[in-house]
Amino acid sequence: MHIFHSIADLRSYLRVQRQQGKTVGFVPTMGALHEGHLSLIEASKAQNDLSICSIFVNPIQFNNPDDLARYPRTLGADCAMLAPAGCDAVFAPSAEEMYGKATASEGSKLSNAYSKPILKFDFGALEHVMEGQFRPGHFNGVGIVVSKLFNIVQPDRTYFGQKDLQQVAIVRRMMIDLGFQIELHPCPTLRELDGLAMSSRNRNLTTEERAIAPHIFKGLSLAKSLLLSGRTPAEVKRAISAHFEQQPAFRLEYFEIVDAHSLQTIEAMADTGQTALCIAAHLGKVRLIDNVVF
Ligand code: AMP
Repeated sequence: MHIFHSIADLRSYLRVQRQQGKTVGFVPTMGALHEGHLSLIEASKAQNDLSICSIFVNPIQFNNPDDLARYPRTLGADCAMLAPAGCDAVFAPSAEEMYGKATASEGSKLSNAYSKPILKFDFGALEHVMEGQFRPGHFNGVGIVVSKLFNIVQPDRTYFGQKDLQQVAIVRRMMIDLGFQIELHPCPTLRELDGLAMSSRNRNLTTEERAIAPHIFKGLSLAKSLLLSGRTPAEVKRAISAHFEQQPAFRLEYFEIVDAHSLQTIEAMADTGQTALCIAAHLGKVRLIDNVVF
């Protein structure tokens, strides 16, 4: 497996591969990999000659500096998982490589040495809810890094997890608006045996927090069964608030019942269309998100 830190080296490698007629699948990640990430590599391998994984903790999509500082960085262990999974190449750039070095005037203002992009994405209604509402600037950072990675890798297909449902919706829209000729493949959420969605942030949970973390998925499952049994969205939202009031270790940030495509709140259940139940909750110092779609 090749490991590239420079954009130029990755581009030269990909140029040769494409001259040989190989198709390219691309899985963008922030590292601290788990089985969920590997399932995306597996999906890519099934459809492409070559599978590329990027590992980049993108500073501009973090609105909370402590969250960025605490984000696990485990490149050696990540590569040790990717090679046997059949990944062909890893792209692990520094922030300076991705965004360029800060100029002297920027450097004096910023503690980081990379140049912060000035371009701003506005995803309208898609980003005014849920993650966008509670993490201002997050999807702008996602939009910039994903479009930049797409330009560098120029894949045929790309694989994203439905665990980040709003991210998938935003990337889909960005690809339409910017005319990226790449197939977007959303992939199902992989869970631990107790239902907890796999996440790089899970490793920051204490043993006690890890033991109760499955209450997030239990809450989603409860909400789904209540909705399917005919309760109204307002009743279900009250039931979920009560569920978390019995679990004082959690701080529920949001629980939303939305249309799975528009991500806008559903006031009454319709017979058609897909519903998504989306949740974000803090457990100790860790912020966890999850969703179910049905
Ligand atoms: P991240 O490294 O957290 O930015 O995630 C990289 C990609 O892996 C994103 O497309 C995520 O949605 C996806 N992903 C994260 N957790 C899971 C999971 N439990 N199951 C499937 N995909 C996931």
